[in-house]
Amino acid sequence: MNVHPLPPSALKGEGMTSQRARDRLAVKLKEEGIRDQRVIDVIRNTPRHHFIDQALHSRAYENTALPIGHGQTISQPWVVARMTEALLEFGTPQKVLEIGTGSGYQAVVLAQVVPQVFTVERIEELLRQARRRFRQLGLANIRSRHDDGKLGWADEAPFDAIILTAAGDAIPHAVLDQLSPTGVLVAPVGSPSNQTLIRMRGDGQGDFIQEELAAVSFVPLLGGIG
Ligand code: SAH
Repeated sequence: MNVHPLPPSALKGEGMTSQRARDRLAVKLKEEGIRDQRVIDVIRNTPRHHFIDQALHSRAYENTALPIGHGQTISQPWVVARMTEALLEFGTPQKVLEIGTGSGYQAVVLAQVVPQVFTVERIEELLRQARRRFRQLGLANIRSRHDDGKLGWADEAPFDAIILTAAGDAIPHAVLDQLSPTGVLVAPVGSPSNQTLIRMRGDGQGDFIQEELAAVSFVPLLGGIG
């Protein structure tokens, strides 16, 4: 079920930004192992070209990460799909925290399948652009904050799910503390040359079940604000 559909006008596009280009991407994600039909449908209905510079529009629906300025990237669609699917697998979380808003694409994908998204970005200019996209797409269920995401978003904790879209050596303690006792966290962990996407699930007793989901390549989780 698509909880918050985007307005049809958001999907206008021609040639490489057309619905056909999005449909082809959806087929590719399925071929590459994405199983959750909600996630595939949302990616098929999200105009990724709105999240990148015009000069890159022709590549918007390729299954690759692309630069968004400030040395950062919009994640590869397969990775966005896999992380979203991993967060939804045990039921739909009500409140989700994202660390690393970047272009806002992952937040917009999430906001179409869960009730509330909270997202934190350390680079003010990226956050400003992402907020403009949230408004243009009419998504009122995303709240965003300019801060060091290593601190999480204490005032809004606990979260049923947390997603980090930048990689550190470990999950910051403050962030883990803000996960509900049975919550799910998905994050890349490791060094730039050797990163793994992990999922942690609270067992309700204060312990976590940890799984490795895939090898990935994310920009680093930095400290402080930019
Ligand atoms: N989810 C994004 C991916 C952006 S790349 C998207 O869909 O486009 C990761 C982002 O994490 C970058 O914008 C980077 O500035 C941000 N980031 C890195 N360390 C951070 C931190 N400590 N707090 C908040 N954001 C951080």
